[in-house]
Amino acid sequence: MDSTSVIYAKSILKERGLKQTSARVSVVSQIRNYSGAIPYHKLQKSIDIDRTTLYRTLNKLVEEGIVHKTKGKDDETYYALCGHECGSHGHSHQHIHFQCRICNKVSCEDLHNEISIALPKYIIENMEVNLQGVCPDCK
Ligand SMILES: [Zn+2]
Ligand SMILES: [Zn+2]
Ligand SMILES: [Zn+2]
Repeated sequence: MDSTSVIYAKSILKERGLKQTSARVSVVSQIRNYSGAIPYHKLQKSIDIDRTTLYRTLNKLVEEGIVHKTKGKDDETYYALCGHECGSHGHSHQHIHFQCRICNKVSCEDLHNEISIALPKYIIENMEVNLQGVCPDCK
């Protein structure tokens, strides 16, 4: 396994005051190693830990604002790393998720403009934008 992603995983866990369990280190480093958001089944295949541990580890990482998830068009859950704007206080993403219909890759993309939605009677606390189309590699 790529050692720079292991080093990254350990440092982010330490920074957030979390124990560097082997499950957490391997989950974070696998996600970091993957280009784009990693589908759950690939994550499961690439790590030698049982389902329950993987499930608990992912939940904890999402709760701590280290990892976030999104649903793909195939109803698969995809996981990606968060930036510094996320933490145990919550997630705050300024990016959208794009899934390519040809290679199925899901990626986190920063927008070049802000999305504004007018919904006067409601308080919007969380917004997730999922776009589908053709990625630059498949164009
Ligand atoms: Zn996040
Ligand atoms: Zn593609
Ligand atoms: Zn994302």
